[in-house]
Amino acid sequence: METDMTFEYAPAPESRAIVTIKPKYGHFIGGKFVPGSKHFPTINPATEEVLSQIALAGKADVDAAVKAARKAYTSTWSKMSGKERGKYLYRIARIMQERAREFAVLETLDNGKPIRESRDTDIPLAAAHFFYHAGWADKLEYAGLGTSPKPLGVAGQIIPWNFPLLMLAWKVAPALAAGNTVVLKPAESTPLTALLFAEVCQQAELPAGVVNIVTGDGSTGALIVNHPGIDKIAFTGSTEVGKIIARAVAPTKKSVTLELGGKAANIVFDDAPIDETVEGIVNGIFFNQGHVCCAGSRLLLQESVAEEVLHKLKNRMEKIRVGDPMDKNTDVGAINSKEQLAKIIELSAVGDAEGAERWSPACELPSKGFWFAPTIFTGVTQAHRIAREEIFGPVLSVLTFRTPQEAIEKANNTPFGLSAGIWSEKGSRTLWASQQLRAGVIWANTFNKFDPTSPFGGYKESGWGREGGRHGLAAYLKGVSHE
Ligand code: NDP
Repeated sequence: METDMTFEYAPAPESRAIVTIKPKYGHFIGGKFVPGSKHFPTINPATEEVLSQIALAGKADVDAAVKAARKAYTSTWSKMSGKERGKYLYRIARIMQERAREFAVLETLDNGKPIRESRDTDIPLAAAHFFYHAGWADKLEYAGLGTSPKPLGVAGQIIPWNFPLLMLAWKVAPALAAGNTVVLKPAESTPLTALLFAEVCQQAELPAGVVNIVTGDGSTGALIVNHPGIDKIAFTGSTEVGKIIARAVAPTKKSVTLELGGKAANIVFDDAPIDETVEGIVNGIFFNQGHVCCAGSRLLLQESVAEEVLHKLKNRMEKIRVGDPMDKNTDVGAINSKEQLAKIIELSAVGDAEGAERWSPACELPSKGFWFAPTIFTGVTQAHRIAREEIFGPVLSVLTFRTPQEAIEKANNTPFGLSAGIWSEKGSRTLWASQQLRAGVIWANTFNKFDPTSPFGGYKESGWGREGGRHGLAAYLKGVSHE
């Protein structure tokens, strides 16, 4: 039943009193915070307030971090029993849970995502990754990955800004469980939760040098990628940088995993449960402002239900609350950076120019900070750039199809292959479609669900290797994958 009744929401702001942000940060190397030389600001994208000054790591800092990681690897971590390593991972997981509110507030301030998402998704999932991998640390020989699996050595890890702490957990937890040590670089615009994680490592009394965190920009990332003292590179980010990294490591002995972009098809068949489907479409593209590599950014509607779905989707979008990320009622927060906003604006303008029809609900956007209203484009064809390129924002491209075969052809007509969604009440149709789709993760009657036990990764230009589950563990062990 549709109703026009609306309720006013009273503001429900989360307090930021729980976090202490230092005016300036250095790097975390060899178990200690060491001062940086050059600094750059990190801002709150919802207000443009400068939160802190972050150190920009150069060659000497990356060298020191790799040296500390190597020392910790040879002298301590690779020699320690899996049972002992597991204890540290459990300890880290429990401290993350204890300090969850602090992490959530800090993540929202630095990233712009709604507190409801950092509190209910990012931080609990990050802790879950440490719990899950703590369980593997003393059971590696039973993982079906050989009788005596051995770590790779020092892992260089480079992560993006869309899920800062969660991406750290995806990278650090399996590396440590398998017996590797790490040098991690968070994204330039979201370094604060990684630096708080460094404090957690100290609190857990993790041996010095097992986790090293250097902050900086792409130049720091390149120094890590090209460092001869590193055995494995794990990267999440754009396909463009992924290709640069693939070229850089090709002539070396480094192992590599790449989690890159996506342009996922979310396919709605005519027998789909429409109301649930509309919720799934909204979750698929507007979760985390659409800053999600596996976002359901291409909606494929079967023609016979297209009108009904679009009508209900627009109704539902009218109710999306965009604004202050610290308000517990907010659904869509700020765009992470000025640069990302410019990219979203530019690609949306291309959608207009190519003849697609743009629609957004009426919504008042804050005057400061970086904002983009939830948007859908209808009348999109496969040739449109907004159907082919990753917009990485709250923008949905809608296409239609007549037959299931046409849906599959359109869904697979992309250089990417990270994820896909299927909405249908028919099990046989869902299974048939999932076997035809070239995507690493396929959700049926749901979207954007994550679990540490489930491998995640893509085909084609969406990357190499898997993270999570046994497959993700294998990527940090010798002779098992990508060597
Ligand atoms: P990047 O791929 O540039 O950034 C990801 C990480 O790589 C960051 O830590 C970045 O550092 C670092 N980096 C940048 N250049 C290099 C390099 N040459 N060598 C090694 N590391 C490097 O993504 P952006 O933040 O620039 O976003 C651009 C686009 O990428 C987005 O619009 C979106 O489409 C896509 N993207 C996809 C993601 C995904 O999960 N698939 C995640 C993020 C972005 P720093 O941030 O400090 O510059």
